[in-house]
Amino acid sequence: MHKAILHDHLDGGLRPSTAFELAKVLNYSPLLETDDIESFFDRSDSSSLDDYLEAFIHTIALMQTEENLERISYEAAEDMHKNGITMYESRYAPFYSVNETLSPTKVINSINAGFNMAENEYGIKSGLILCGMRHDFKNVDLVAELAIENKEKIIGFDIAGPEYDFMPSLFKSSFQKIKESGINITIHAGEGDGVHSIKDALSNGAQRIGHGVRIIEDVNLKTGQLGDTSKELIDKQIPLEVCITSNVHTNMYKSFNEHPIKDLIDMGFNISLNTDNRLMSNTTVSKEMQIAESLGITNVEQLLINSASYSFLN
Ligand SMILES: [Zn+2]
Repeated sequence: MHKAILHDHLDGGLRPSTAFELAKVLNYSPLLETDDIESFFDRSDSSSLDDYLEAFIHTIALMQTEENLERISYEAAEDMHKNGITMYESRYAPFYSVNETLSPTKVINSINAGFNMAENEYGIKSGLILCGMRHDFKNVDLVAELAIENKEKIIGFDIAGPEYDFMPSLFKSSFQKIKESGINITIHAGEGDGVHSIKDALSNGAQRIGHGVRIIEDVNLKTGQLGDTSKELIDKQIPLEVCITSNVHTNMYKSFNEHPIKDLIDMGFNISLNTDNRLMSNTTVSKEMQIAESLGITNVEQLLINSASYSFLN
């Protein structure tokens, strides 16, 4: 029985111990000057999304060589395996690692090399989703081109970064090209913006929605009446890649108890359980499962099993 994680960012999942080791080799002072690397990265009390995102500067700084990318990818897959996961979808914005000696194709190859090592050792299957950064129009287009050139080496395409004011339709031509190439599409939507953003993601070919939890705003919880977009998600059983802790840490919900995952499941939405950024959110698959259980979800393991059936790795 396969269990899958569908939404996990490679640059958000480094082990604190690895980050510290790599920082020492590079003499990367922001990390060397701190005495507690775990709390340095932990953004559970972040005051804003900007504060949350600042942490990524320091992981990306460590992801600038083939060797480091390979190690970080291997360890991510290894950690997933240790949490009982057999299919791991990882995502990354490849141009963050491009420099004078590292081409975009080398970035992809290095990540895949790490995944292959983990597969040989543990049998876990991993695949890479390329993220375009939506606040940078040119970047999205470049990542789309890169995805098409390397379509045999990747499993999907996504746009990440600030959602508000950066609707999927701004990148219509990129999504069109991606679709025509037969590459899977998932889109971050319904996190930093509302229902119209989810609707726009669907109309640009999203087969899954990253987060998507704000679809709850399209539902009348008292009467059970559904809006057009929530109806479409349920009718087509479009998977929502839900990441509970991340949503609380970026201040979407004040506490786990306010998170709508249970209501969404009860209403028949197709919900998957995910980690998003394990380092910044100080979380793991096991922790997310415990939180989901504490919210009254009875068969949490089944969510991971269901995820395997609509993984882009298939
Ligand atoms: Zn994400």
